[in-house]
Amino acid sequence: MKALVYHGPGKKAWEEKPKPIIKEATDAVVKIIKTTICGTDLHIMKGDLPAVTDGRIIGHEGVGIIEEAGSAVTNFKKGDHVIISCITSCGKCEYCKKGMYSHCEKGGWILGNLIDGTQAEYVLIPYADNSLYPIPAGADEEALVMLSDILPTGFECGVLNGKVSPGDTIAIIGSGPIGIAALLTSQFYSPAVIIVIDQDDNRLNIAKTFGATHIINSAKENALEKVMSITNNKGVDTAIEAVGLVETFELCETLVAAGGHLANIGVHGKSVTLHMETLWSRNITITTRLVDTVTTPMLYKNVQSGKLDPKKLITHHFKLDEIVKAYDAFGNAAKEKALKVILTA
Ligand SMILES: [Zn+2]
Ligand SMILES: [Zn+2]
Repeated sequence: MKALVYHGPGKKAWEEKPKPIIKEATDAVVKIIKTTICGTDLHIMKGDLPAVTDGRIIGHEGVGIIEEAGSAVTNFKKGDHVIISCITSCGKCEYCKKGMYSHCEKGGWILGNLIDGTQAEYVLIPYADNSLYPIPAGADEEALVMLSDILPTGFECGVLNGKVSPGDTIAIIGSGPIGIAALLTSQFYSPAVIIVIDQDDNRLNIAKTFGATHIINSAKENALEKVMSITNNKGVDTAIEAVGLVETFELCETLVAAGGHLANIGVHGKSVTLHMETLWSRNITITTRLVDTVTTPMLYKNVQSGKLDPKKLITHHFKLDEIVKAYDAFGNAAKEKALKVILTA
């Protein structure tokens, strides 16, 4: 089969790899129908995640068809259509029993990281019963690719941890796919004011069409001053960090109102300063989380009913074997006006 293989920082190739075979009775081999590229994959390509080694097939999102199911897989059989979760979980360990699949003792985020991923013609999924979700006939499979990672990530790490409530004022820092996923799913809870902050006008304009009440280009305007003027100098009830930079996290620390929540989603490579000299008395909650994907079935129902339309995030389409070209487009997101790219086998 063909797959997108990482060969060290800056090096990747669409090349021949052996088709995966079942090793454990709980495994399934899935034939990829559609996959996508995540911001995390760009980090991997730069060499930011040293756990990813030369020869690894990248990718942790996608939908596909069961090619072969191990003898212990009871939820799926050959020919079933499935959503592949970015998180692999055994469903049996202490963490899984708490619903914290991200820290599964045998799984977690391993796909396209510690084991071969989804940017390939076939992928091996361990613990298939718990790590795959069924797709009923007739569903829009392209939209469902957004359920592998970005929608549950924006919702669980941003909206749920940020305790967004009716009438709240919230700020989302970062208008990439994850920030937009938080923007879409925050509206389950009817916040009154949704401020989106980014440095890319195109992405900010997209945020506006997805329900942002205010947009701020922090490259052109003072984001803190603007937020304070919108909120009568109170700040926001929830600040969602969806970038992963020192400056954006520290901006969130200044934006959050007394009693507010700072919900981090961003992948951070550097330490940030925690300004306890201003925060100690302000009844703030700061949360971190790796997505557990426990809300995927709930999000799926909202996609099926039309309440949530994640297809709006898809800006570019490529054939799976054009994936190197797709990386170029996604890697130049501002110039290409790219949010999510879909690769179809
Ligand atoms: Zn991802
Ligand atoms: Zn587990």
